This record gives sequence, structure tokens and C-alpha cells, in this order.
Amino acid sequence: MLGVAYLDWDEALSDKRRGDPAKCPECGTGRVEWWPVADPRTRVGFAVLWCVECLAGIHISRTVFPEGIAFTNAHEAKVAEAGLPAIRFVDPPPSRRTSRPPPSTQ
Ligand SMILES: [Zn+2]
Repeated sequence: MLGVAYLDWDEALSDKRRGDPAKCPECGTGRVEWWPVADPRTRVGFAVLWCVECLAGIHISRTVFPEGIAFTNAHEAKVAEAGLPAIRFVDPPPSRRTSRPPPSTQ
């Protein structure tokens, strides 16, 4: 069913936000890495999550990062320098789509 895989990534995001390790909802085995980016004043920003094994991943826009979670300063974030791999982005369900496309990994 469309969107199920994307929603499963919400759990991985929750794990990362707690500072816990997250497992890939796509392949079930891979470790999930992330690149959180936010405004230091509001702690609001976006995150890219991906699996180190199968490279499935998502781009989550507009999320708040709790205290204790380190993130890249949004004003200094340069996607090209983030060292992101060639992520296979999972399409969000229609209800979660935003006008903002995933960042280019070029
Ligand atoms: Zn995976």
C-alpha cells in the first residue's frame, strides 16, 4: 500500500530523536543514519534519514529536534558537503507531500 513504507520511517525518526539506534524499515537489517539540520534558535528544521545497507531513505521537512540532539546549523548547511550517499528516497503519501523536494545529493 502506498505510503506505508514512508510512515514506517517515522518510527526510525523517533528513535533517532531519542538518541537511540534505528533499524531500516525497508530492509529490516540496516542501521539508519541521519543528517539533522535546524535553526539553532528554534530547533526547527529538516532531516534526511537513510539506511547504510540498502540506501533507502526519506527527507523529512519541518521537524523539531529535542534538546541534546546535535544538528547542523541550517544557516551553514551545505548539502554538497554533508557527505550524503546516493539515497533512494521513499515517496511520501499524498497527505505528507510538501512543495519542497529532497535535497540534491550531487
Ligand atoms: Zn535498509
